[in-house]
Amino acid sequence: MLNVPSQSFPAPRSQQRVAAGGRSKVPLKQGRSLMDWIRLTKSGKDLTGLKGRLIEVTEEELKKHNKKDDCWVCIRGFVYNVSPYMEYHPGGEDELMRAAGSDGTELFDQVHRWVNYESMLKECLVGRMAVKPTVLKDYREEEKKVLNGMLPKSQVTETLAKEGPSYPSYDWFQTDSLVTIAIYTKQKDINLDSIIVDHQDDSFRAETIIKDHLYLIHIGLSHEVQEDFSVRVIESVGKIEIVLKKKENTSWNFLGHPLENHHSLIPRKDTGLYYRKCQLISKEDVTHDTRLFCLMLPPSTHLQVPIGQHVYLRLPITGTEIVKPYTPISGSLFSEFKEPVLPNNKYIYFLIKIYPTGLFTPELDRLQIGDFVSVSSPEGNFKISAFQELEDLFLLAAGTGFTPMVKILNYALTDIPTLRKVKLMFFNKTEDDIIWRSQLEKLAFKDKRLDVEFVLSAPTSEWNGKQGHISPALLSEFFKRNLDKSKVLVCICGPVPFTEQGIRLECSGTISAHRNLHLLGSSNSPASASQITGTYRLLHDLNFSKNEIHSFTA
Ligand code: FAD
Ligand code: NAP
Repeated sequence: MLNVPSQSFPAPRSQQRVAAGGRSKVPLKQGRSLMDWIRLTKSGKDLTGLKGRLIEVTEEELKKHNKKDDCWVCIRGFVYNVSPYMEYHPGGEDELMRAAGSDGTELFDQVHRWVNYESMLKECLVGRMAVKPTVLKDYREEEKKVLNGMLPKSQVTETLAKEGPSYPSYDWFQTDSLVTIAIYTKQKDINLDSIIVDHQDDSFRAETIIKDHLYLIHIGLSHEVQEDFSVRVIESVGKIEIVLKKKENTSWNFLGHPLENHHSLIPRKDTGLYYRKCQLISKEDVTHDTRLFCLMLPPSTHLQVPIGQHVYLRLPITGTEIVKPYTPISGSLFSEFKEPVLPNNKYIYFLIKIYPTGLFTPELDRLQIGDFVSVSSPEGNFKISAFQELEDLFLLAAGTGFTPMVKILNYALTDIPTLRKVKLMFFNKTEDDIIWRSQLEKLAFKDKRLDVEFVLSAPTSEWNGKQGHISPALLSEFFKRNLDKSKVLVCICGPVPFTEQGIRLECSGTISAHRNLHLLGSSNSPASASQITGTYRLLHDLNFSKNEIHSFTA
């Protein structure tokens, strides 16, 4: 049984207090937590008022259901009666009512694209929108076509005119034993992180991010291939090669048949997250409540999570798919200890704090070695270009907000020749809460460019280090540049109030000075005025400019 207390929810410190993009959430009534909602959906109660029937909904019909006690919303072509969910919606009833009687897909995507609404709202499903008669593309029709990556000319021109980035193309060729699929991204700044490949059952999927679009190859292969494959990237020409091993050495007449969205360039905001099942390989205690989880990707997946990005883990909890974001780390802070026996790129490590009264983490903690958890493709807008010619790196982490700093530290210390200084200020409650303390101390001893300072908010009387919370006094001492004009990057991650302490901006001048700030984490949007608070404000007062600060927030 999940032991979720029924008092005020979300808890004052819960991530669920603030949504993606910094939108404040409303306090929910007693008995209206996510767990309570899950219980209601399992109770057998008729939540649509249709006694289990699914209907076709016309636009006219949808429009009629626009009141709190009779509210239908369409998301991606499916219509839900969200009235029973009103009181459980963390964003509040008014927010949900904005989509009443209409297509709420865009609104939904702006706020929480990653939330697994299909599972959460499945008992509220009224039916599908009635499709207006149009000529639907029949993918099966194209089955007989030889896939060679070339679009008909008219289609290419039309797409190029519509879309921002140049349209990628693909091609394929074969030897007796191999089939190579080549993707021409028409982008130069690509690497092995830029491509994700999944071959599951009959579907071969390769996705690559092209600016703010996702280019997808999605094919049912014409012949069987072996589980493992290799991926090569030829950076200088923006080419990706996926080399598949044939099961039988026969010549293929065609690559396969196109599946949904094959050879499309889709705006990222319009794409759902793709999940694959990963196996739990090991679980180790790091502190009294934080564990290092190692997950193994399926052999037929190529996925590398870029620095500063997170993924979503998905688990069924009492029959409902629950999704939470986590930031993969490297297995250790020392590059020579990184994944010593395990082959690269097949394993993903996570440092996860288990909240005994949380919804997701106790369930994760209950997984046995060999069990599976679904892992999404990565998200986040941290750009590795932020490291270019970097001289001073300042990291402010609180609690598990340390996780994005792990890869950042590894990368900066090993790959940035211009780097002179890295300073980490790591905030925790007590000494027992400090993640990887001895590794950090050893690393700082070994590499003189690194300084680490621990700050405790609830230390014992023996602690003679720094104490308290993040404050202007602590920060002004911490931020001392080596040279006045050095290239600086500041990364911040921790509990929401740590970065957004509620210090509101008083003048629009400050807002415009910050308007290009990008928040990392589950939000992909530039910071809004209300997000430029707390630590940002402190940093602004210390004369750090907008391009020098990256904040990882919920
Ligand atoms: P929740 O259910 O969200 O509970 C959180 C807190 O609220 C707990 O203290 C819990 O006791 C309390 N609570 C829950 N229900 C109630 C209730 N009814 N009444 C009172 N109190 C209640 N975390 C990591 O550990 N590692 C990471 O790498 C990591 N990366 C992240 C990356 C991003 C981009 C973001 C946004 C968050 C990340 N997190 C990470 C946090 C993570 O996503 C989860 O929020 C966290 O694991 C808690 O999930 P939970 O469902 O177990 O807890
Ligand atoms: P925690 O142990 O509760 O807190 C860590 C430290 O931060 C403590 O010293 C705490 O002080 C302090 N703190 C809390 N609120 C503060 C505030 N308003 N002002 C100043 N200091 C404050 O932290 P945790 O439970 O590990 O939580 C980590 C958080 O990081 C989670 O919210 C998680 O979602 C987030 N996270 C985000 C990302 C991301 O966005 N990419 C990645 C990983 C983690 P007190 O003793 O006073 O509480």
